[in-house]
Amino acid sequence: MATKTAPVNLNEQREHSFFNDVLQYFDRASAYLDHPSGVLEQIKYCNSVYRMKFPVKIDGKIEVIEAYRAEHSHHKLPTKGGIRYSIHVNQDEVMALAALMTYKCAIVDVPFGGAKGGIKISPRKTSPEVLEAVTRRYTAELIKKNFIGPGIDVPAPDYGSGAREMAWIADTYSAFFPTELNAIACVTGKPLSHGGIQGRTEATGLGVYYGLKEAFSKKEDVKQWGLTPGLEGKTVVVQGLGNVGYYAAKFMHEAGAKVIAICEYDATIYNPKGIDPDKLLEHKKATGGTANFPGAKTIKENTAGLEIECDILIPAALENQIHSGNAKHIKAKVIAEAANGPVTPEAEKVLLKKGVYIIPDIYLNAGGVTVSYFEWLKNLSHVRFGRMEKRYEARMNHNILETIEKASGSRINRVQKELIERGADERDLVYSGLEETMINAYNTIRDRYKSTKGMPDLRTATFASAIDKVAISYQNLGIFP
Ligand code: GLU
Repeated sequence: MATKTAPVNLNEQREHSFFNDVLQYFDRASAYLDHPSGVLEQIKYCNSVYRMKFPVKIDGKIEVIEAYRAEHSHHKLPTKGGIRYSIHVNQDEVMALAALMTYKCAIVDVPFGGAKGGIKISPRKTSPEVLEAVTRRYTAELIKKNFIGPGIDVPAPDYGSGAREMAWIADTYSAFFPTELNAIACVTGKPLSHGGIQGRTEATGLGVYYGLKEAFSKKEDVKQWGLTPGLEGKTVVVQGLGNVGYYAAKFMHEAGAKVIAICEYDATIYNPKGIDPDKLLEHKKATGGTANFPGAKTIKENTAGLEIECDILIPAALENQIHSGNAKHIKAKVIAEAANGPVTPEAEKVLLKKGVYIIPDIYLNAGGVTVSYFEWLKNLSHVRFGRMEKRYEARMNHNILETIEKASGSRINRVQKELIERGADERDLVYSGLEETMINAYNTIRDRYKSTKGMPDLRTATFASAIDKVAISYQNLGIFP
């Protein structure tokens, strides 16, 4: 029997490859490097990709789950990267994200190779019981193939996963290796009660804020973007009110920037006078969505916010959000890539021509993995940061203040005293380490951009800097015969 089919739209059929985008960025940056082509070839592709399928009972029925773990580069161990829970997970995406992790770690001097995992499941539509069963089974599959371990490969949260899933992973791993002293260092982003670290939850959003603060402190750059130094008063649009988007919006709001629009999956919320991200999140929790947030305009089109005129656009959701279709409508002066791969290479060409300054993902969203590194260090040292020195520091500061008071004959007021005397606790140290990391890394990539003849943009400079570090590391290791 003949069946009628709709005419094929070749453009729609041709799937966009995220990994291909990363390869394009890699090639563009490689042109500014002088490493043997074999070394570059070794870095470029994923070293190992594990594609698995396993059965799970859901409502009495056996369903087969598809999942992945890609390890991009083993120049440093362990490899590191989150696990994405999404129905759109596929091998191309996981490989692209694993590659970005390698470059991200290199940029912020976190001594890990890059990896990424993905489980093809919709966390919003799946019960916690099923999610737990899937997570534990996924972990067991990783163990079987040696794709997890404190010195092998250390997962973390990503889109659709959080501390709860990481606790299940740590618990499953510990059950398989009950005598391994460092077992809980097999995963980061865990709850505080299970070896997590203060500041990990907000780390990516906080890193975005520190990065922007540093970028906006450079007078001559800011002038070129047609803006004034500092974040205060800057108009900001954020795409995504998930973990990264919410915290990026919150820290920007607290720094005095005006968050005029937030796009979520159900709508764009717009208020030219500014939106308080905490209030919007409360509204989302109470109503299940952001639409109809009191005092703001609800625009049904959830990507409409991307095209609103603003100083800083922060895409903090998924890849491929600013593409050749909407790039010409973007009116932001600076794009701060809080998500991984939110701007396609085609869109980037259009934006750069318009003079938009793009702060690339592999630098700007590296706050998450930076604090994951701190968590891993904490787990390996089996002691919380600040535990040994906090009180000692406070006592020493107290003694210094007392000496100053005695010598000067004048008293320091109580509020000031408490502020100066206080010893640093874990959160203080994590924030300080993250701020230092983001500042240093920004200056490194900016210098590379400014000082390399013909360097076209900050992303290319950032990739060049990252590839350089990985290449040097491979070359120093030598080739195993
Ligand atoms: N999933 C996060 C990222 O893409 C964090 C990775 C990690 O902490 O290992 O950077």
